[in-house]
Amino acid sequence: MTLTAACHCGAVRMETSARPLWLTDCNCSLCRRLGALWLHCDPAEVSFLCGEDETVAYVQGDRTLAMHHCHTCGCTTHWSPKGGGDRMAINARLMEAGAIAGLRIRHFDGAETFGFLD
Ligand SMILES: [Zn+2]
Repeated sequence: MTLTAACHCGAVRMETSARPLWLTDCNCSLCRRLGALWLHCDPAEVSFLCGEDETVAYVQGDRTLAMHHCHTCGCTTHWSPKGGGDRMAINARLMEAGAIAGLRIRHFDGAETFGFLD
């Protein structure tokens, strides 16, 4: 089974073979504004079906990651590591609700302690 994510206009579509144990809701200054729900995975587990070049990257702070959104509809699609890393995350809000319905949501304190709150 693969999980597929698509932005609202459909320009950006990706799928992952990752089998997440949970999704992450982070309260850091950026994530809380975006309202994203993160599915963390290895970049090797992600394939773009279309639109990899249709996103705009926002790089801030310590410049360790790029936050991408669709340049047409504005949906936050994923973040990717800068300079090659083995973790990335897809915004699970772009997935069909039924596909992720059974997954636990963990609250991550990215604002202060950088640990899970549960
Ligand atoms: Zn779009």
